[in-house]
Amino acid sequence: MDTSKKTNNPAYSHTDNTPVNLTNEQWKKILPKDVYEVARQKGTERAWTSPLEELKDVGTYYCAVCGNPLFKSDTKFESGCGWPSFYQPISKSSIIYAADHSYGMDRTEVMCGRCKSHLGHVFNDGPPPTHLRYCINGVVLDFEKAKEAEKKYNADKQ
Ligand SMILES: [Zn+2]
Repeated sequence: MDTSKKTNNPAYSHTDNTPVNLTNEQWKKILPKDVYEVARQKGTERAWTSPLEELKDVGTYYCAVCGNPLFKSDTKFESGCGWPSFYQPISKSSIIYAADHSYGMDRTEVMCGRCKSHLGHVFNDGPPPTHLRYCINGVVLDFEKAKEAEKKYNADKQ
């Protein structure tokens, strides 16, 4: 994956879970423009534009802003909505929720549990077991393929 966007990002880590509290001024200098617009200004990428939408590889999806682990590939599903969709975050602390009444709609916004960046929304029309659909902008996700050993472990389990 492209790692260039993290070279100037002191907050980025896959293991450090201490909260990140940077101002938008600071983020603007650190993040690529498309990431900044979605993550910090609650923008939405155009449907069907994310290469992650159709990705079926085994691995982990991280917050592209701070590196917080958000979703595992085995909770990703084909929702047909045009954005990467998951039915369950990695842990309760991966995500924080907020009521969003913008555009005359009643939605629940989901944000990164570590850096509070906007990720997307969660809806009640997902598949079992949670029946939730986390509809996430691909631009704020980083995907990392599972290591070969991990893949083998998962294969043996089945
Ligand atoms: Zn984050």
